[in-house]
Amino acid sequence: MNLGRENHPELREAVAALCKQFDSAYWQQVDEKRAYPEKFVDALTQAGWMSALIPEEYGGSGLSLTEATVIMEEVTRSGGNAGCCHGQMYNMNTLLRHGSSSQKKHYLPKIASGELRLQAMGVTEPTAGTDTTRIKTVAVRKGDRYVVNGQKVWTSRLQHSELMILLARTTPLDQVAKKSDGMSVFLVDTKSKGIEVKPIRNMVNHETNQVFIDNLEIPAENLIGEEGRGFRYILDGLNAERILIAAECIGDGYWFTDKSVKYSSERIVFDRPIAQNQGVQFPIAESYMEIEAANLMRYKAAALFDKKASCGAEANMAKHLCAKAAWEAANVCLQTHGGFGFAAEYDVERKFRETRLYLVAPISTNLILSYLAEHVLGLPRSF
Ligand SMILES: Cc1cc2nc3c(=O)[nH]c(=O)nc-3n(C[C@H](O)[C@H](O)[C@H](O)COP(=O)(O)OP(=O)(O)OC[C@H]3O[C@@H](n4cnc5c(N)ncnc54)[C@H](O)[C@@H]3O)c2cc1C
Repeated sequence: MNLGRENHPELREAVAALCKQFDSAYWQQVDEKRAYPEKFVDALTQAGWMSALIPEEYGGSGLSLTEATVIMEEVTRSGGNAGCCHGQMYNMNTLLRHGSSSQKKHYLPKIASGELRLQAMGVTEPTAGTDTTRIKTVAVRKGDRYVVNGQKVWTSRLQHSELMILLARTTPLDQVAKKSDGMSVFLVDTKSKGIEVKPIRNMVNHETNQVFIDNLEIPAENLIGEEGRGFRYILDGLNAERILIAAECIGDGYWFTDKSVKYSSERIVFDRPIAQNQGVQFPIAESYMEIEAANLMRYKAAALFDKKASCGAEANMAKHLCAKAAWEAANVCLQTHGGFGFAAEYDVERKFRETRLYLVAPISTNLILSYLAEHVLGLPRSF
């Protein structure tokens, strides 16, 4: 079906044509082997879709965020997993927005061509959790370099990245006026001495890792922007990340809806298609309605971002509503498939696992609700 495909039809067709080459058997094999979908990511990069948000002057496609979201939506809608590569699209934002002109000239064209992959971002730490200001990874300036020690967790795609955006504290927490001050962002060569990577076996195939950092030396010229302002730079890039992930969830939501409609129309039990039972139809209709509604917020957030208007609330609402709608559609799809929903060959259980992530990462539901309560509704600060 072609539900929800009204916008940017030509772009959609081009991305969908590429995705079609990577069918259900391809993704099942990657998932089963817990492998990285190298061929798919290479094809997406070579076609220029991964550099959508890099301006043309640096060799990228210079598309709007709205168009970039369409690319990611088509990936998940085709049955693929955009989580394997979305970092390459948005991590460079920190560099683009806050890097020096020589950093941008040096790195962005290589990131655009795929020669350098900037797919990893090390922010989360095991003891700090969502309270990023409590990170314990420390960078100390020593002459023309910084020496970094600490630990990160859930650093995704590090094995498939030449570069990583790393957040570390450069001024101790008890010496800053505001707890969000005193952290800095660095561009790190992932093959440097002092980085030990331990993959975490987990529910989704994201190749995510524990990272142990022991006397890692980073040239001072790899500091992005000003020392001490790194947390702001990271926050700055998050709206794009949230909106892109919202669109991935929309792609998932339509994929589940298509699957539910098709299977329920074909599956005969009690001598009639199960879809003929309203107990089967109604949840599909309801979850479809929720996807449609969430999709409006996704486009609103993306349009505000493209106008360079403030969009923190809309980006958060889009991510939350789209993740919830996709999850509901996933649940309905599994239920519609009955026992067959659990069989890997139907792809439903894989997509079910993949879409569940987005209620937790990159930011969990409660933190979005608390942002809205405090910053939009003016309710008392909780933490
Ligand atoms: C597959 C995967 C990939 C990831 N990739 C990356 C990555 O590439 N880079 C990176 O830096 N991070 C990454 N993450 C980390 C992710 O962003 C965090 O897991 C997420 O932000 C939640 O943090 P936490 O796990 O520390 O949960 P915690 O902070 O320990 O929170 C646990 C639960 O408690 C709730 N909670 C905590 N505090 C409050 C409060 N004050 N009020 C109400 N509820 C609260 C949270 O909402 C959550 O539900 C990834 C995670 C996963 C699972």
